[in-house]
Amino acid sequence: MSYPMSLEDREIQERARRFVDEELIPHEVEAEMNGGHIDPEIKAQQQQMARDLGFSAMNMPTELGGSGMTIFQQTLVSEQIGRVTNALGWVVSTPAGWLPAIATDHQMATWVLPTIKGDLHECYAITEEGAGSDVDAIQATARRDGDDYLLNGLKWHVTSYNEANYLFFQAKLEGGDHQGEHAMFIVDMDTPGIEVVRTPAFMHTYADTHPIVGFTDVRVPAANLVGEEGDGMGFTYEWFRYERQMIAARCCGAADRLIDEATAFAKERVQFGEPIFEFQAIQFMLADSLTELWAARLMTYELARGIDRGEDVKIQHAQCSMAKLYASEMAGRVADRAVQIFGGRGYMRENVAERFFRELRVDRIWEGTSEVQRVIIADQLSKRGSTPLVG
Ligand SMILES: Cc1cc2nc3c(=O)[nH]c(=O)nc-3n(C[C@H](O)[C@H](O)[C@H](O)COP(=O)(O)OP(=O)(O)OC[C@H]3O[C@@H](n4cnc5c(N)ncnc54)[C@H](O)[C@@H]3O)c2cc1C
Repeated sequence: MSYPMSLEDREIQERARRFVDEELIPHEVEAEMNGGHIDPEIKAQQQQMARDLGFSAMNMPTELGGSGMTIFQQTLVSEQIGRVTNALGWVVSTPAGWLPAIATDHQMATWVLPTIKGDLHECYAITEEGAGSDVDAIQATARRDGDDYLLNGLKWHVTSYNEANYLFFQAKLEGGDHQGEHAMFIVDMDTPGIEVVRTPAFMHTYADTHPIVGFTDVRVPAANLVGEEGDGMGFTYEWFRYERQMIAARCCGAADRLIDEATAFAKERVQFGEPIFEFQAIQFMLADSLTELWAARLMTYELARGIDRGEDVKIQHAQCSMAKLYASEMAGRVADRAVQIFGGRGYMRENVAERFFRELRVDRIWEGTSEVQRVIIADQLSKRGSTPLVG
């Protein structure tokens, strides 16, 4: 029995699956062996296809040039995107969904609309050496200077810095009525004073880098302030909620792929004269994986439906944390079992289980660690009780 969804939803799901299976997955090993890179012409074709198929800017309203998908539909697409390794799925770009509602006309014309069209790409500079889980500990500063702001700080893990045209920079205000409060700025990458300090290597093999970036007296016009002074944290929370939901979806997709691949292998791999699928030890690993995937998928789908129905934002906040926590930890367990089922082959970089085993680890860290998700869930439980959170 399939999960109930409209014909349109099913069509979007199948369209995304075909795109991932036919256009992205065939390039995984090439990417793995080439530092995450594939032929730039093929990548450009994939990006164009992702736009033509309505996946890029799927979170943006149609009147702005997006495809205006519901959160449930975006979840279905993200789940399929999660089935491919090496971040090849990042050819599907989803611009900052929180931005159009508060962007000025200038910001819409300069950054938002070109990003929706796919002409510009953004990245996020929030985390710092001393401020990871505790975002409020950031030391980056923004000081008003005439018609401009001067930005200073050192940002860590700026994902996709090498692919981006502008970044969102979160800082604390120095001076003025909002001294010490957070503010968010849009900063073009070619603004003087921005410098890559170091580009560390990470566990996964992605073309996108995550450098440490220094900002020294970076001067941006006041028109680059997003929303009002003091609004910075609100945008970050909104972004976190969206990303947590989509990470949960991608983790379900990864687990789905791993279960399919490991099952196919187990049915064909013969040891002691019979397919290893016949051994109960192997069956149990697959059975546990499938059961946990079902649970994670139902949570993730129901959460999406709740967001589309306009569920209270505090409830959404807790449920996004629950879905991200459970789905990311589930996918980690499934990847570990998949490596085991593949045996020595599962330890080879050309094997999907090996790649996912490394790649899925970060889903328990970024956009809030598993511990931080538990803190959020427990906080909401103490304030509201369990019924509003889990029905
Ligand atoms: C590959 C990658 C890409 C990233 N991309 C970006 C990006 O584009 N932009 C950006 O701004 N940031 C980015 N990040 C940063 C990411 O969001 C942080 O790494 C994450 O929030 C955790 O912060 P931290 O690494 O400083 O760990 P810490 O906050 O130092 O945590 C260390 C450990 O302490 C635990 N801990 C912390 N607080 C608590 C608590 N209250 N209770 C219990 N345990 C706790 C954590 O769970 C963790 O186990 C990226 C990180 C990675 C690894």
